[in-house]
Amino acid sequence: MECYECHSLHRSTSAVAVCRECGVALCASHLHVETQQMRKEAGLGKSTSEVPARRVVCPTCRRAELSA
Ligand SMILES: [Zn+2]
Ligand SMILES: [Zn+2]
Repeated sequence: MECYECHSLHRSTSAVAVCRECGVALCASHLHVETQQMRKEAGLGKSTSEVPARRVVCPTCRRAELSA
């Protein structure tokens, strides 16, 4: 699979990830990786190891989210 953003620029670059929102394939220079802390109300005193979730979005979806 090739990066959709590069394809629209008439380049062909191997994709390494897929946008979670719209499903287009993305190369390393076009993807945006976001990490989200899954907030949980933990019980008293316990420091649980919080593993951040990962989310990959394309530039278009990221813009749409930031302007929302
Ligand atoms: Zn690309
Ligand atoms: Zn997208």
